[in-house]
Amino acid sequence: MGELFVYNSFSREKEMFTPLHAPNVGLYVCGPTVYGDPHLGHARSAITFDLLFRYLKFLGYKVRYVRNITDVGHLENDADSGDDKLLKKARLEQLEPMEVAKYYTDRYHDMMDALNVCRPSIEPNASGHIMEQIDMVQQILDAGFAYVINGSVYFDVVKYNQQYRYGQLSGRVIEDLFSTTRDNLEGQEEKRNSVDFALWKKAQPEHIMRWKSPWSEGFPGWHLECSAMGRKYLGEKFDIHGGGMDLLFPHHESEIAQSQIANGDTPCKYWMHNNMITVNGQKMGKSLGNSIMLEEFFKGSHKLLEQAYTPMSIRFFILQAHYRSTLDFSNDALQAAEKGLNRLLKAYDTLNALKPSDISSVDIGSLEKDCFAALNDDLNSPIAISVLFDSVRIINSVNEGKESLTKEDIESLTKLYNSVLFDILGLKKEEKSDTGLTDNLIKFVLDLRQKAKANKDFAASDKIRDELNSMGIAVKDTKDGTVWELKN
Ligand code: ZN
Repeated sequence: MGELFVYNSFSREKEMFTPLHAPNVGLYVCGPTVYGDPHLGHARSAITFDLLFRYLKFLGYKVRYVRNITDVGHLENDADSGDDKLLKKARLEQLEPMEVAKYYTDRYHDMMDALNVCRPSIEPNASGHIMEQIDMVQQILDAGFAYVINGSVYFDVVKYNQQYRYGQLSGRVIEDLFSTTRDNLEGQEEKRNSVDFALWKKAQPEHIMRWKSPWSEGFPGWHLECSAMGRKYLGEKFDIHGGGMDLLFPHHESEIAQSQIANGDTPCKYWMHNNMITVNGQKMGKSLGNSIMLEEFFKGSHKLLEQAYTPMSIRFFILQAHYRSTLDFSNDALQAAEKGLNRLLKAYDTLNALKPSDISSVDIGSLEKDCFAALNDDLNSPIAISVLFDSVRIINSVNEGKESLTKEDIESLTKLYNSVLFDILGLKKEEKSDTGLTDNLIKFVLDLRQKAKANKDFAASDKIRDELNSMGIAVKDTKDGTVWELKN
């Protein structure tokens, strides 16, 4: 199977993957902030690390996959007003904050299930780990790398930078950060340096989510939860930390600083980041009106969408790009993905029905090797998929009698499809929709109508047509018989 190499964002090099405690692997991925519906960007991150999770398991590792739910303290990151996003949503919809978090957590799970994304081994909530976060703040304070002002605790980035380097992961230098850090955030004026970040924030009167701490009644800073929960479930040093590239700075950079001070080391051996999705060449964003929710894809209900797309088309579309490249959404690209996936699934059916020969006229030996060489090369799913497409040509020409394959070769091709297409890439045949049932029912009703017409019972036949019509089913009598279609 060869050795797996992954691109480590920290060293900026491809490195051979060697777990700290093989065969166990600790994987931590930053999960969703549950104040809104998941969009295409969420799908890309989840599918990227689902591919990694599936492949590590395929290679025989025992993976503990932790993906958190951020349900508190995303304050520092809100450029709009410095208000807690979840709290704002709760106020807007007149709900308990926990009600909002639960609702969107369920929505996230529903969408990820549809995309065939495996659930993580542990899915901790930030709000359920306040004690662990308070402990870590205290450790950082005791070590002298944080300070308390007006009940809030800030990480002293300038002091940290004198001893370690803040910006190692993102490649930023602190001098530049001073000039680019926003200075309009709440609490900015009380920090010693604009680059410092909050470990604990004193709650304002309007904050509902608040906990007692040695410093104030308040809530943890956003970066803290991942450091505290990663340590709790995976230990002070674990194998892989993943997330979207947008989290590289300041989130992951700050996580490194926190762990360095609290644990005396960086939190993980490998950092992996998936790249972003653009929409028709443009950055995706709510304000641009091009942030398409997953449910809108599944229903085709966004103005930029020409049709509905199945979850598997979306999964395939995402896997057809390498996770470190930007991926541009367009209807054309998604429709091409849909066609491509159907070709592969159809080839699998053809493969299962192939008649074996005594000799193979084509050499399929390199297909498996090439597929796994691609996956071992930093999860190069587009290359692995293109190798599968090569096999489609072979399968089809065997089916047409132009080439031949032995029983053993057919079996090993089937095995390749089962492991790569289904187990590792996580694709599957879409659940059969009820089209079959609908077809049969309508045919049955139209037969009844035909009989009524034959008996010259036109009142009955018209009533059947009108009833179907009111259900959104258009019935047309043509010279070749009666046809029907769903009206849009
Ligand atoms: Zn995180």
